[in-house]
Amino acid sequence: MNKQRIVILGAGYGGLMTAIELQRNLKDNPAEITLVNKHPYHYQTTWLHETAAGTIHHDQTRIAIREVINKQRIQFMEDTVIAINPEEKKVKLKNGEICYDTLVIGLGFEAETFGIPGLKENAFMIGTLNKARLLREHLAYNFAQYHNEEKKDPARLNIVVGGGGFTGIEFLGELANRIPELCEEYDIDKVKVRMISIESSPTVLPGFDPDLVEYAMNSLETRGVEFVTGASLRECGPDYIVYEKDGRPIHVPTLTTIWAAGVRANAIVEAAGFQTTRGKIEVTPELRAPGYEDIFVVGDCASIINPKTNRPFPPTAQMAIQQAKIISTNILKRIGGEGSLSAFVPKDLGTVASLGHNDAIAVLFKNWKMFGWKATFMKKMIDNRYLLKLGGLNLLFKKGKFNIFY
Ligand SMILES: Cc1cc2nc3c(=O)[nH]c(=O)nc-3n(C[C@H](O)[C@H](O)[C@H](O)COP(=O)(O)OP(=O)(O)OC[C@H]3O[C@@H](n4cnc5c(N)ncnc54)[C@H](O)[C@@H]3O)c2cc1C
Repeated sequence: MNKQRIVILGAGYGGLMTAIELQRNLKDNPAEITLVNKHPYHYQTTWLHETAAGTIHHDQTRIAIREVINKQRIQFMEDTVIAINPEEKKVKLKNGEICYDTLVIGLGFEAETFGIPGLKENAFMIGTLNKARLLREHLAYNFAQYHNEEKKDPARLNIVVGGGGFTGIEFLGELANRIPELCEEYDIDKVKVRMISIESSPTVLPGFDPDLVEYAMNSLETRGVEFVTGASLRECGPDYIVYEKDGRPIHVPTLTTIWAAGVRANAIVEAAGFQTTRGKIEVTPELRAPGYEDIFVVGDCASIINPKTNRPFPPTAQMAIQQAKIISTNILKRIGGEGSLSAFVPKDLGTVASLGHNDAIAVLFKNWKMFGWKATFMKKMIDNRYLLKLGGLNLLFKKGKFNIFY
C-alpha cells in the first residue's frame, strides 16, 4: 500500500509544531511527511521586535530546522511556496512541485497596509527575521550618519511606530532600551532622539486591562516614548509621515517608520481560491478549510470566531501551537481510519507583553494581573518553555533566556 503523503507548508510555530507532534506520535511510519519552508531555519516571530531593535542577536532568534526534526521521519525541503492548487492536490514551489494526500497550511502572516499611500514602499515591517535585521541595520546606519554628517538631519533620529497594539508596544519597549546604547556608541545627545507611537484608538493596547495600559505607557514615557492616540497615519514618504489628529494633518520628518498595525494571512492562501475573510480561511471546528477534507490550516492563516465576542481570536503563537496539537491528532485519526475528528477548543493561557527585557505587563489565568519583574520573569519562562517543548534541554540551553530577573 502506498504511504500517505502529508505535506506541511511553513515551519513557523504552527507548521513546525505540527511536524514535531507527528514525529512524536506517528508509529511505524505509515506516512511520508514533508515540511517545506523558505529558509533552513525556524525563527521565533515573537522575538522579532528584539532582533529589530538590536537588543538580541538574530542567531538567538533562529533555530536550524534539521536540528529539531528527526530526519528519518520528516523530509525537510528548503523551498518557496508559489501557489496551492487544492483541486489537483498539488503545491507549486519555486523549484518544482509537490503532491499531497493531506496538506497543512502554515504560511503565516503579511502586513496589512489598508491602502495607506506610501506605507508599503517606505515603511519597515517586523514580519520576518531578515526584515527585522534590516531595521536594526537601518537604525544603526542613521545614527552613524547623523554623527558623521556636517549638516545634521533630525529626520534620522525621529522614529515613528504606527500601531500601538502588542507588536508596536513590544518594539517600543526594546527600542527605548536600545536608544541610550546607540547614543553612547555614536556620541549623540539622547534628547535629540524622538520615538513616536501613533495609534488610532483612544488608548494604546486597546482591550487590555486599563491599569496595566497606564503602567506600560508610564514605563515607556519615562524612557522617552511620545504617545499620540486617536490619530491616524495618512501618508508615509521616504523622509516623512503625515498623521491626522482632531481633523488636522501633522507632518513629521522621519527616515524610519515602522508599521505594526495590522496583519493578514499570507496572500498565497487567498490566491488559491479558498473562502477567506481578511485573507484568512474561516476554518471548520476540526481546523480544516471548508469544503476540503484533506486540508488543515494552522496559525495566522486560520480564522476562528470567538463566540463570546463574535470577533476572530487574535492571531498568536500560543494559538498556533495549540492548533498544531489538534491538527496532528486529527491527521493521525484520518490515517487510522477514524471517522470523527477532534474539535479545536482554544485555551486562554493569558497575555504577556514585554516592555523591553526588564519590564513587562501580564494578565494570566484569566485575571491575575502582573507588571515589572514578575511579568518579565513569566515572559521569559514562556519563551523558554517553548524551546524546551520544541527541542528539549539541548535547545533550551543553546537559545534560552536566562537573564530572568532583569
Ligand atoms: C514582533 C511580534 C511579536 C509577537 N509577540 C507575540 C507574543 O508575545 N505572543 C504570541 O502568542 N504571539 C505573538 N506574536 C504573534 C505570533 O508571532 C504569530 O501569531 C505566529 O508567529 C503565527 O504562527 P504561524 O505558524 O502562523 O506563522 P509564522 O510563525 O510567521 O511562520 C510562518 C512560516 O512560513 C514560512 N513561509 C512564509 N511564506 C512562505 C513561502 N511562500 N514558502 C515557504 N515558506 C514560507 C516563514 O518563513 C515562516 O517560517 C508576535 C508577532 C510579532 C510580529
